[in-house]
Amino acid sequence: MDNRIMEILHTYSLRKTPIRAQMLELFLNANQALGQQELELQMDTADRITVYRTLRTFEQKGIIHQAIDGTGKMKYALCEANCDEHAHHDSHAHFHCEVCNKTVCMEQIPIPHITNPLGYQVHQIHLLLSGTCKTCQ
Ligand SMILES: [Zn+2]
Ligand SMILES: [Zn+2]
Ligand SMILES: [Zn+2]
Repeated sequence: MDNRIMEILHTYSLRKTPIRAQMLELFLNANQALGQQELELQMDTADRITVYRTLRTFEQKGIIHQAIDGTGKMKYALCEANCDEHAHHDSHAHFHCEVCNKTVCMEQIPIPHITNPLGYQVHQIHLLLSGTCKTCQ
């Protein structure tokens, strides 16, 4: 068992289950955002509901965050270290490759700070970059 997996489960006070460990391993090795379907395919021991529930738990705990990439399919990526149960702090852009359909976090590109545009209240901002990734160029 990978130490990082144990460390993450411990930090977020989650009991170790084979499903949680397996899903974390997939996220740790992925280097890209993963959708529920991709996870299901790689986690043949888990049914859809379990995969869905585990994703929800991880998101609520601050382990993974949503990476909205314009495809309409929800993808998730590992959080930066400072997320917790109460708030996500992943204010970075996401890049979606139009060729290979890969979505990655761009931690080095922060989301600009925007306050009350024309009286609207902003709760979330998503910054999506799309184009061709390094591999597909
Ligand atoms: Zn987060
Ligand atoms: Zn690509
Ligand atoms: Zn991200």
